[in-house]
Amino acid sequence: MTPLPKTVREVRLKSRPQGMPQATDFEIAEVPMPVPGDGQMLIRTVHMSVDPYMRGRMSDRKSYAPPFELGKAMDGRFVGEVMESKGGRFEKGAYVAGFGGGWKEYHVADGKGLLQVDPDLAPLPAWIGVLGMPGMTAYVGLLDIGQPKPGETVFVSAASGAVGALVCQIAKIKGCRVVGSAGSDEKCRWLLDEAGVDAAVNYKTCGDLEAAVAQHCPDGIDVYFENVGGEHLVAALNLMNMHGRIAACGMISRYNDADGKPQPGPHNLFLVVGKRLRMQGFIVSDHAERIGDFQRDVGGWIRAGKVKWKETVYDGLDRSPEAFLGLFKGDNFGKMVVRVGPERLG
Ligand code: NDP
Repeated sequence: MTPLPKTVREVRLKSRPQGMPQATDFEIAEVPMPVPGDGQMLIRTVHMSVDPYMRGRMSDRKSYAPPFELGKAMDGRFVGEVMESKGGRFEKGAYVAGFGGGWKEYHVADGKGLLQVDPDLAPLPAWIGVLGMPGMTAYVGLLDIGQPKPGETVFVSAASGAVGALVCQIAKIKGCRVVGSAGSDEKCRWLLDEAGVDAAVNYKTCGDLEAAVAQHCPDGIDVYFENVGGEHLVAALNLMNMHGRIAACGMISRYNDADGKPQPGPHNLFLVVGKRLRMQGFIVSDHAERIGDFQRDVGGWIRAGKVKWKETVYDGLDRSPEAFLGLFKGDNFGKMVVRVGPERLG
């Protein structure tokens, strides 16, 4: 087997962006190979996740997650291989997924909070996608916050993304009419042909977004799964039915607003009153008690062939800034993943 390298690479935050981040806000550093102590494991990153929420952590402001530190490695979720275990939670050779190894080629961990993955259920990248944090977000966000009932209409923005695609499919499994919006015809085609939605709107070419969505929601919207904000939220508020629910998962169209700049609208927020809407934000990490249910249900749907997913894979740690920035341009089709190393070292 190839000996392990003496030095390894990590991606650091070099400067705090104003507005849309640039590649120059990141730098690659080479550091000595970390050495596991007693009770620890050396883990080699195979795939790492880039996620929209990381944009918030690049700014120095109070939020539910602390800011990334300048000059230090970025962090995030990963799936990797245990290369050495000195009494850590998992054995050498196991594949594990969780938080703490993102944007790095290797790291050491005791294994707390990590999950052993079953490569027979789904390929490795799925464990940071449909079977990982984005999948769990879709599950709790739709079922617990959105609370859809059979026959209701569910509208999903960023519908072909990591979270949105699973929201659409769970809503179909629960007997809803599902309408998704996405940023290309190819994404809309996949939503119709593979994810099984009832209608898909390309928000970039449809003209009047509200009119385009209304055409496919003849009975109005009962649940809006909000990933985007801005014009999508305005349209959804206008089309919501009485006692509708808005599961406020994210608002990616606003994440690159310059820090401190007041955010516009939505001008029609007053509609939540008359329509008796419930609009609830949520953060997936608050719902850890649902992990067992999520794994049972989504794992079961995958085994039964009821859930499909897509991934866009960028090759090489040095491409992680490019992959991250691509999230804000719709360059990803499904979960955005960076392949940091091979599945097995030769
Ligand atoms: P996606 O895989 O959906 O990737 C982001 C997508 O957003 C892009 O592919 C693009 O798709 C769309 N997008 C980007 N900019 C805009 C814009 N200005 N207007 C409209 N669409 C845009 O990411 P995730 O599935 O990981 O995340 C989806 C949402 O869920 C995000 O808002 C994220 O912050 C949120 N989230 C929230 C969590 C929570 O705990 N609350 C946890 C995880 C995610 P397109 O081509 O269709 O435009």
